[in-house]
Amino acid sequence: MAGYLDLPITMSLRLRSSVSTDSGPEDRDISRQSGIANAILTITISSGVSWGLTLQAEFRVATDRGRTVAQSADSEQAFSVINTWMDSCNSDHQSQCADASQPPLLPTRVLDVNPVGLDIDLVCLRDDQNKVERAANYVALSHCWGKCIPFATTVENLEDRKREVRIEDMSRVFQEAVLITRRLHIRYLWIDTLCIVQNDRHDWEVEAGRMAKVYMDATVVIGASNSNADDQGFLGPRDHRGSIKWPGSLSNGRTSCLALSLLPPAGQRWTSGRDPVSLEPLQSRAWCLQERYLARRILLYGAKQLFWECRAISRAEDGDLRLGNLHNLNRLRGTASIKTTIFGPRPAGDSEINYRGWYEMVEEYTQRSITHQSDRFPALSGVADAVAQTSRDKYLAGIWRQGLVEGLLWCALNGQESLKPTSYRAPSWSWASAEGPVQFIVYHFLERCRWKRGIADYEQLATFVDCDVTKDGPDIYGALSSGYLRVHAPLLPVKRLCPTDNNPSFPEELLPPLRNPTVENVVELDVGNQSFYLNAGFDLTPGPGLLQQQLFVLFLARLPDGNHGFSPFMEHRFGLLVRRTDKESEVYERVGIIDSPILTKSASRGFLMMLIRLLENVLLFLERLSPSTDRSPISNLTPQLFVPSRTLTEEPEEEMPPDPLPEIRRHSVSVTLV
Ligand SMILES: [Zn+2]
Repeated sequence: MAGYLDLPITMSLRLRSSVSTDSGPEDRDISRQSGIANAILTITISSGVSWGLTLQAEFRVATDRGRTVAQSADSEQAFSVINTWMDSCNSDHQSQCADASQPPLLPTRVLDVNPVGLDIDLVCLRDDQNKVERAANYVALSHCWGKCIPFATTVENLEDRKREVRIEDMSRVFQEAVLITRRLHIRYLWIDTLCIVQNDRHDWEVEAGRMAKVYMDATVVIGASNSNADDQGFLGPRDHRGSIKWPGSLSNGRTSCLALSLLPPAGQRWTSGRDPVSLEPLQSRAWCLQERYLARRILLYGAKQLFWECRAISRAEDGDLRLGNLHNLNRLRGTASIKTTIFGPRPAGDSEINYRGWYEMVEEYTQRSITHQSDRFPALSGVADAVAQTSRDKYLAGIWRQGLVEGLLWCALNGQESLKPTSYRAPSWSWASAEGPVQFIVYHFLERCRWKRGIADYEQLATFVDCDVTKDGPDIYGALSSGYLRVHAPLLPVKRLCPTDNNPSFPEELLPPLRNPTVENVVELDVGNQSFYLNAGFDLTPGPGLLQQQLFVLFLARLPDGNHGFSPFMEHRFGLLVRRTDKESEVYERVGIIDSPILTKSASRGFLMMLIRLLENVLLFLERLSPSTDRSPISNLTPQLFVPSRTLTEEPEEEMPPDPLPEIRRHSVSVTLV
């Protein structure tokens, strides 16, 4: 038939189940009783089998006030959701979250939000002299101080505050925390600014050391996620763009409002693979990260809705729920105890791997801003201490001894922009020596090579010899004044280094597809009588002095080509670019990273590279089309599975494929990195 386009497209509209209540499907009451959506309308658009592509969208439909998320964070509806979450955590997560046996010991000082004998608009500070109980449930606040004048406790006002504090005098964020604590029927609240005497150095040092325990023991932590500063409240009306409303009337004469808002496809969430509050003020502060990880339960007041994270689940006010919680001490401790490392036979299924939780947390941590760069270790020392208590592992400048090589293989994402720090922070081999976000490349490598079949296991090329760090202060996980690391690994001098961006006519075969974007140089090395090339990146913009020095490549790991020579350019090497600081005793300093296939100049391989690059781009384009994708680009540092499910179903390689350049290993020496 002329003009008729025969495309295999079908479209269906389906109304799926309604959430039942005890009294049956009474639409006027359902939202109020359940607090969640009561019907889901699914629209499926399918392009047919021949395309192999299915697009699907779901809409959640709510009646009554027309919302699945409360209009305001301090509304009755919002508090009823919180109470449901608390009840479910207490009854369903006995082993993980609830220790019903006895309430925790109270911190040194706490705010009593329901003091007997005082007016409703008054609270008071309690310490050992006026505490009415030693152990009780309490709430802890995680907040951004911001630039406002802090409502702080000082030596001068401490005694007055133990008698009474007018709620209306407090910072807005503190007032709201008092309100929430009261609504949760908890009597005590801990706020750092109020409960630590801010101008008493001794008090501050003692209490800072106890802070991690305060957050760990709190019944619940309130995360004022949406507040920039203590004078900017986080409760209040929310922005609800993206929902459509239809007012209507019910058969009994009452009016109702039907609202539709778009939800993610079944079994997924919009925030899939991403942290839903990652862009909010609280998540931009380095110091607040461990408060979230240490918390047994945290209630995050986001700009659009509430989020709950406990040791068992994470959930959102719109009904989104996920088992497990990435931002949680239990996960860190769990992966710290796993014997399977990334170097060795790849685990089957969706299993965790040694220290992956820790390094993902560091990636998140390094994206946050920190006022004093010297706080890099101190602001993480609470979680490091908590992890060490279960793992019994040695902590080496932010890296764990049992997860050493993966911890050394970081790349600085802002490397080309940053400047050398003026004061000492960390040894050059530690991620903390870089300013700005870092990425641990072995966990992200497979994201760049997901098209590749028959991928083999990583092989470690370096062995640990010795290490020590010198503390700068009393905290054993805190600031450092020096540190060295000795490893036995292949070391080769760089014959030539050439930046790729200065050279538009760079041979195709030396620019592999989807390479690490921070790796912007090519180094030439000789082994035996053979020349080969690797892509390398500097941690900091190299000055002319550095470029004139003799540089070396320290090989740390290998990812063999699982295709046994079919695609030889995929034989991959990971290592460090180093410079020698002391020739006599073989002391080196890290200046960059090696993340590269072994490259050789060959015309046929150049064509193959182009083809692979084209395939990669087609695949990326298709993945962007698919709503079910849970992958992020290489620059996205969000924690996620590093092994794509496709490769997991494949049989692991039986044995390590042979090394095409075995001569490199003959150059193994013991080197000291500082
Ligand atoms: Zn729980």
